[in-house]
Amino acid sequence: MINTAARAALPDLAEMELADLEQFLAGLGEGRFHARQIYRWAYKRGVTDFHLMSDLSKTLRASLDTGLVLSTPRIVGRDRSSDGTEKFVLEVGPDGGTARRIESVFIPETPAMTFCVSTQVGCAMGCAFCLTGKMGLVRNLTAGEIVGQVRVLAETLALRDTRFNIVLMGMGEPLHNYDETMKALRILANASGLAISPRRVTLSTVGVVPGLDRLTTEPMMPNLAISLHATTEEQRSRLVPLNRKYRIEDVLAACRRLPVKRRDRITFEYVLLDGVNDAPDDARRLVRLLQGIRAKVNLIPLNEAAGIPFGRPADHRVDAFAQILADHRVTVSVRKSRGRDIRAACGQLIVEGQQRSPGQRLASAMSSALSPAGADA
Ligand code: SF4
Repeated sequence: MINTAARAALPDLAEMELADLEQFLAGLGEGRFHARQIYRWAYKRGVTDFHLMSDLSKTLRASLDTGLVLSTPRIVGRDRSSDGTEKFVLEVGPDGGTARRIESVFIPETPAMTFCVSTQVGCAMGCAFCLTGKMGLVRNLTAGEIVGQVRVLAETLALRDTRFNIVLMGMGEPLHNYDETMKALRILANASGLAISPRRVTLSTVGVVPGLDRLTTEPMMPNLAISLHATTEEQRSRLVPLNRKYRIEDVLAACRRLPVKRRDRITFEYVLLDGVNDAPDDARRLVRLLQGIRAKVNLIPLNEAAGIPFGRPADHRVDAFAQILADHRVTVSVRKSRGRDIRAACGQLIVEGQQRSPGQRLASAMSSALSPAGADA
């Protein structure tokens, strides 16, 4: 019987792309073709016990049981909103004895089913209207932990055989964790596994320019949502601290360099804050900024929360803002808030008790302002 410490040191199937698993099997003296069978069991059928993978030989099953693990995030909290949205608190790790908690959200009928997953524990970006930003960055999630959220939600909600979309809009800035996020997308897309095409994935970013440029070199590119939120450099720097390094003009220039297919558009997200960025002049500036970009705008009236020093604009202000965009032929939608009663709405994800210490947060804020780790992307 293998003990827990020895098990924790074993290779993890959750972190393996198909080619990694093939190589692992070759090392065992087994055929590489078994990798597709194992992927099918783990991802298509949700089987995590190697002994139950009945089309593998008993010898191989025994070798897998003693030589490989399949880590899966554990559900430690679950809340259902009156609108059907469900928020899951998941535990990953442990990292040296400390389990880390993240949140993932299931949003039904948007019009498809959508899973909103996290890419980091906390976030270094510190956006002024977002509770996750108040946690600071605790650590990056691994590819297996990002995909693991999808496996857990699909299994728990009995949606493994249903088509769903994925949005990387939970905790964290995906391009600040570039390598693991892209690896997760490759694992999700594998035809022997969940087979979720990048076209069904939307990556949301505040505009980590080196990461946006690097996306142009990827064979598979997800849909993009740029969190713009402001129309002047001064206003955006107050709301999105990363703007001090990558300014609006830099982010939009990077967007213009992205290969966007004829029928596709880049989404620009714009959280509307009462009396801050919701004036008709802001709407007109937004129209001018987006000229020449295949864009659509998603307006998000703020989801108010204790600790966030902004208010939600009145509906008539939201409508007036949207109308100005529409009058200038900018495709615009207003995001319907889902799950506000369970704090699952955009910008409301936070796991209590995991914030970094004030000293750590300051260091994180300084490092993100001076040399955002996105620069490594
Ligand atoms: S809005 Fe996104 S990037 Fe900004 S602090 Fe929140 S999670 Fe991070």
